[in-house]
Amino acid sequence: MSAEIIDGKKIAAEIRQRLKEEIAADTHEDLPVLAVVLVGENPASQIYVRNKKKAAEEIGMGCEVVEFAESIGENALLHSLEELNENPHINGIIVQQPLPSQINLQKVLEAILPEKDVDGFSPYNAGLLQIKDPSAIVAATPKAVLTLLQKQLGDLSGKHAVIIGRSNIVGKPLALLLLNHDCTVTIAHSKTKNLSALCQEADILVCATGKAKMVKKDWVKKGAVVIDVGINRLENGKLCGDVDFDEVQKHAAAITPVPGGVGPMTIAMLLENTWEAFKKQKNQEKTCHCGHHHDCCCHSHKSHE
Ligand code: NAD
Repeated sequence: MSAEIIDGKKIAAEIRQRLKEEIAADTHEDLPVLAVVLVGENPASQIYVRNKKKAAEEIGMGCEVVEFAESIGENALLHSLEELNENPHINGIIVQQPLPSQINLQKVLEAILPEKDVDGFSPYNAGLLQIKDPSAIVAATPKAVLTLLQKQLGDLSGKHAVIIGRSNIVGKPLALLLLNHDCTVTIAHSKTKNLSALCQEADILVCATGKAKMVKKDWVKKGAVVIDVGINRLENGKLCGDVDFDEVQKHAAAITPVPGGVGPMTIAMLLENTWEAFKKQKNQEKTCHCGHHHDCCCHSHKSHE
């Protein structure tokens, strides 16, 4: 038996096409705009930001890259986020990670207005996900994994999902998302004992560790769906995931490749979050009658309290 390859690249292209059509058909005067804050000159970050900008512009979405020197102070960065929060032409704000050590990441994430937090990393959106509030903006990578699983399996109810990795940007929000979709969820991490035996229990196995090819064939139950979030660069320069693809492919029912699986889906989900944020902000403008467009009740944190 050979696993079905889940074609994230193709599914992501379909989603971007739908977004492109929806944006083209939109009757508002302005376009949705994503602001990407980039600090320093990390080459990987520069590539990620370039890819996001290109993908946004291809679907008719604006993308403003706001660049700062590696040496920028925390207050200056927070001030620039405040300006983006207040700018009515900006609908989504993301801050590319990693940030230099003088900057407190948590403070930065807290500074982004929840309705513009299209990465879903702010404590506010993380909290909404936790209480299963449908208005939560959900982080793009967990949302990408959910979308691929739903496409592959339909209803996820009662499935046992094992997630390896407990980071705030992948493992933890994904666990909540799958729980909210009625999966039975096990979160494994670097201190988990008997990891391979645990993984063998999984109907759905997601790996997000950053450890190349760590998931082997005998970790995977026959017929399981395997989602590989990891992006690792091998010595030969090639990319590979956290799953030993060649081995596991013979065993699983379906598997995502790296590259071409979760990666392209993550960008599509970020664009979708920005488009949804734009539409919500436009609706709020319409329903707000106070006459103070951008500082009004609808645009402040207070409307959520
Ligand atoms: P992280 O380093 O913050 O977290 C890694 C997690 O894996 C930790 O919770 C750790 O406990 C666990 N872990 C590490 N080694 C382990 C082991 N041997 N056994 C069990 N658990 C182990 O990483 P992250 O930010 O969550 O990213 C994980 C991977 O996903 C990375 O390769 C990253 O590049 C990739 N990633 C991909 C996308 C995408 O769009 N495809 C997005 C985000 C992250």
